[in-house]
Amino acid sequence: MEKGKINVTTENIFPIIKKFLYSEHEIFLRELISNAVDATQKLKTLASVGDFKGELGDLTIRVSLNKKKKTLTVSDAGIGMTAGEVDKYINQIAFSSAEDFMEKYKKDSNAIIGHFGLGFYSSFMVADKVEIDTLSWQDNAQGVLWSCDGSPEFAIDESKRKERGTTITLHLDSDSKEFLEEQKISELLDKYCKFLPVEIAFGKEKEWKDGKEVETGKDHIINDTKPLWTLPPSEVKDEDYKEFYRKIYPIGDEPLFNIHLNVDYPFTLTGILYFPRIKNNIEIQKNKIQLYSNQVFVTDSVEGIVPEFLTLLHGVLDSPDIPLNVSRSYLQSDSNVKKISAHITKKVADRLEEIFKNDREQFEKKWDDLKLFIEYGMMSEEKFHDRAEKFALLKNVDGKYFTLKEYEELIKEGQTDKNKTLIYLYATDKAEQYSYIEAAKAKGYDVLLMDGQLDTHFLNHMETKLKDSRFARVDSDIIDKLIDKEETRESKLTSEQQADLTPVFQAHLPGQEMNYFVSYESLSEEDHPVMITQSEFMRRMKDMEQLSGQASMYGNLPDSYNLVINSNHPLVNKIAGGIEKKLGKKLEELRTEKKGLSEEQQLLEKAKEGKKEEEIPQSEKDQMEVVNKKLGELEDKRIALLKKHGKNQKLVKQLIDLALLANNQLKGEDLAAFVKRSVDLIK
Ligand code: ADP
Repeated sequence: MEKGKINVTTENIFPIIKKFLYSEHEIFLRELISNAVDATQKLKTLASVGDFKGELGDLTIRVSLNKKKKTLTVSDAGIGMTAGEVDKYINQIAFSSAEDFMEKYKKDSNAIIGHFGLGFYSSFMVADKVEIDTLSWQDNAQGVLWSCDGSPEFAIDESKRKERGTTITLHLDSDSKEFLEEQKISELLDKYCKFLPVEIAFGKEKEWKDGKEVETGKDHIINDTKPLWTLPPSEVKDEDYKEFYRKIYPIGDEPLFNIHLNVDYPFTLTGILYFPRIKNNIEIQKNKIQLYSNQVFVTDSVEGIVPEFLTLLHGVLDSPDIPLNVSRSYLQSDSNVKKISAHITKKVADRLEEIFKNDREQFEKKWDDLKLFIEYGMMSEEKFHDRAEKFALLKNVDGKYFTLKEYEELIKEGQTDKNKTLIYLYATDKAEQYSYIEAAKAKGYDVLLMDGQLDTHFLNHMETKLKDSRFARVDSDIIDKLIDKEETRESKLTSEQQADLTPVFQAHLPGQEMNYFVSYESLSEEDHPVMITQSEFMRRMKDMEQLSGQASMYGNLPDSYNLVINSNHPLVNKIAGGIEKKLGKKLEELRTEKKGLSEEQQLLEKAKEGKKEEEIPQSEKDQMEVVNKKLGELEDKRIALLKKHGKNQKLVKQLIDLALLANNQLKGEDLAAFVKRSVDLIK
């Protein structure tokens, strides 16, 4: 028996590796099985080129547990190793890769999270003793028995082994008892080995017999050696894709579309991506794209490998060209990864365009579910935006779909304002904004429905892309202002009448007065008498802030609205007439008084002109103060008078409530009062 010392410079590397790889201990199984698969594949290759002429026999890889002996065994019937190879690959290379690992770790602690590169050596994360019993495929080979107890010392001896292949036995340490549980190993095999290309047996098939579950003589094979993504797309049927989806995501709705990737130049990439039906944010987190390397599961966090918007997709990607034992930041700068990412983006766009062209009806049907991905993609990837312009759709409130081009054609004539800006009208809630939508339609305009999660962000994005165009929510101003065509109409109210109407209306405004800014528009007699609008700018700022969860200067402001009074509506004129009748005289008196004071004020101002503060005589300053005070008092008096009058005007309250109702702001007690008042007014 030969004894030797493993060639590692770091004296005792094992405890360090154990400690740092704590959370990743379970990968040892994947590493051992990958080696077994490689050894089997190599043998198949040797056989196919004629170098190996013997019987291949049963190539199944076997995983077994022995609870008594506390061992876990992985055995294969692959190429095996000669004593020289054990020395070369295990003593020298395997351990030198551990050294590499330490080197890498020193520079970049993220490398610890990196997966491969540990290989066989990772078994020491869970075992205090590891044995290799192996027999090479070569003629007249002698079996080799290697063992190592976790210190850098190993023993190598002859083995009596007669069957070609390798058996690795781990004597699990006391911290790793969980790996003696059948359930645990089943889970790990399912996670990492489900799609490996060589059959892997773990335990026996079970069946029900006389009300009991009993083992049959048949091996329980845990993997699918030819997963769907490895087949040529031409051989795969629609139903197969759906079935495969159910296999990887047992809980989840049927996906919308799939994309089968199959590239062999300039990098190797296969995989199937699915557009899922997403119902809520929780689901986005749950099912993720799985990344494989030659059918070995690596990770389900593909951030950095695929563009961010595509991380919402489901499915599998398999590429041996993605470097796996490196940190995320390195990954993102890797040129291969960049190419792969760009390629996936292009493929996704191609596929969507193809479906759109070949089956627009189907595409439209799925659009509401799809648009989250497409809008997200267009906003985050310039290249995707350019491709998606061809198939991104807009939906109007009547449920009709248009491409961006088609929609522009549709509204160009009618919705261009006097500044040659094309106005895209939209609603976010068909029911809530009903009366505004109707007002727009009455003008012959079209209104988009933007009720998706990302729609408001998307329209911000589109405004930066579309030339001379703007999006305006239907309730952000009166329709004639939203699309301003410079058709001016005479106002039936004088500015004095408007000034008197304002306090009358203010007497009935809910909440704080400052929340509503009263203004007048000369609309037609058929338009609404009073309307409530909220400025597009203000609302968008608030929306954005709500989404980002951050407080900004806009968030602290109360919601503010415009109360727009139609100065040509008969009811408004009737109210103005009422003021005239009831308060005309008093108001006239106040006005005359005010006029006198204003004149005096002007004279005083004039006298001040060109003088420095200290040159103005005190008497003039005092007089000015008196005049200003009197003017203030007069104004207060006027407003108090009008408000008092206003308070008794049921009609004013009614008109305001109608406007609030159309804006969905009339609720609870106020709504009940409105209903009651309406009945009273009819009586
Ligand atoms: P890697 O697999 O990354 O090369 P490992 O440390 O896992 O690194 O293995 C080192 C080498 O040992 C392998 O490249 C292979 O030559 C040999 N080896 C490991 N396991 C087996 C096995 N089951 N059968 C044959 N050779 C093996």
